[in-house]
Amino acid sequence: MSEKGDKAAPEGGQQVEEELLYDYENLLERAWERIPQEVVASSERFEVPQVDVLYEGKSTILRNFVDIVQRINRMDHLEQIYKFLLKELGTAGVIDGRRLVMNSVIPEEKIGEKIKDYVETYVLCSECGRPDTRLEKEGRVLMLVCTACGARRPVRVKKGRTTQEEKGVIKVGDIMEVTVQSVGRQGDGMVRMGKYLMFIPGCGRGEKVKVKVESVKGNIIIARPVE
Ligand SMILES: [Zn+2]
Repeated sequence: MSEKGDKAAPEGGQQVEEELLYDYENLLERAWERIPQEVVASSERFEVPQVDVLYEGKSTILRNFVDIVQRINRMDHLEQIYKFLLKELGTAGVIDGRRLVMNSVIPEEKIGEKIKDYVETYVLCSECGRPDTRLEKEGRVLMLVCTACGARRPVRVKKGRTTQEEKGVIKVGDIMEVTVQSVGRQGDGMVRMGKYLMFIPGCGRGEKVKVKVESVKGNIIIARPVE
């Protein structure tokens, strides 16, 4: 029997099939890896609802206020959004049915901008870009929890306008309250926060601790408990 004869045998055929299958899986995996994450997220990017504004004398009426709140899944925070908008726009106003009536003339673009700010800060998941999130208190820290991908991040209220890169970024010196989710091989407490993995030496699973960030290297954070 020659080598060539063996290849024609059933076992040989099966092997070729397995190789093909392996190649196919490999190909899929590589193709998936090559798609930048932004593209995956943007293919179903959430559009912030457009404002529908009407001016009546000296008042500005946001006609679709309640509709916008519904679209961003925040009916449980209607009051908070109402206060946020009035404060940010520096005006007084009342909710009238589904409308928000403000007692001064405010440019439509400015209202749209503030709603976009709210959505980016309090609604959109910074990992997958979806609005399927809820707000949760973790100690004194308000967390944005994504029901689509499971990511958690602390809500960072903007002081003025910030760039895309600054959002959801954790820096050395930041103080936050966290709940230790697991314990690593070295015995350090670990907390997963969006793209970050935080290590807290000397903390056990389930422990709620206030920590100060000591170092940030890529996605790895070392933090220590503080009083
Ligand atoms: Zn997500």
